[in-house]
Amino acid sequence: MKKKEIIDSIVEVEKSTEATLQTISTLKEEIVKLLEENHTLQMENTHLRERLSKETQPLTEEETSGLTKSRLNLENIYEDGFHVCNIFYGQRRVEDEPCAFCLEVIYGERK
Ligand SMILES: [Zn+2]
Repeated sequence: MKKKEIIDSIVEVEKSTEATLQTISTLKEEIVKLLEENHTLQMENTHLRERLSKETQPLTEEETSGLTKSRLNLENIYEDGFHVCNIFYGQRRVEDEPCAFCLEVIYGERK
């Protein structure tokens, strides 16, 4: 190998190493973003579960008709895009899809 070829090889290795480092850096940023997003969602989920457990408790006890304060709160949570039904409890409604179980909880007849 001539000196020129050795230097060219080193330059090539240097270039590809820089590109790899750039890729690692980008991936690292993506991971940090995902971790932050995950943390936010976990907090949101915990908060909503607390809210739901507070709201669903008086609802089962109350025997009044129409939208009680509890039902109005459930309606607000539902309209914020989350399930209030027992089946999907606290999960996000995908693309605000309507949920018959939630509607039953909010607007259903008292038994
Ligand atoms: Zn639901």
